[in-house]
Amino acid sequence: MRRAVFLDRDGTLTEEGDWHVKAAPPRLLPGVTQALRRLQDAGFLLFVVTNQSGVARGYYTEEDVRVFHRRMEEMLAEQGVRLQGISYCPHMPDEGCACRKPGTRYLAESAARHNIDLARSFVVGDQSTDIAMGVRNGCRTILVCRGFDGADEKTSVEPDRIASDVTEAAALILALDGRDDATR
Ligand SMILES: [Mg+2]
Ligand SMILES: [Zn+2]
Repeated sequence: MRRAVFLDRDGTLTEEGDWHVKAAPPRLLPGVTQALRRLQDAGFLLFVVTNQSGVARGYYTEEDVRVFHRRMEEMLAEQGVRLQGISYCPHMPDEGCACRKPGTRYLAESAARHNIDLARSFVVGDQSTDIAMGVRNGCRTILVCRGFDGADEKTSVEPDRIASDVTEAAALILALDGRDDATR
């Protein structure tokens, strides 16, 4: 079975978007491309899972989101990094959809489609919803805390590890990979 890393987008891979700027181009955070390449080289499939309620709020359109993702994929591909899939939720938090984090649908579907062992896979993100999604799917979880705007205050689920950025998260993943017992 394959292993995967499911990554949050805003605040983890890219700078937080400016909601008033429609279709702002992606700004990858420092070290992200190299970190993802290390994970890819180690055999991990890479996925992005992002909540984009700005669509439902009317701040930007689904087409804006798709353009952003195409550009992000191009930027990564230029450096040899391939994303296996990107999932975004365009709904409001209170709509009760299955695609908004911490919903489990996308990870479950991805696991079935790509023969992924979720117990040997990881979720990396900067909010409690990211960690909760990982815990619900039986993944190992790494919370990225980047200074004052890193983690939200609502965290009620404990991540397996805390990292300062994706570079450190990748190093932790590679250290934990293959160790069945030492994570919790
Ligand atoms: Mg985030
Ligand atoms: Zn949704």
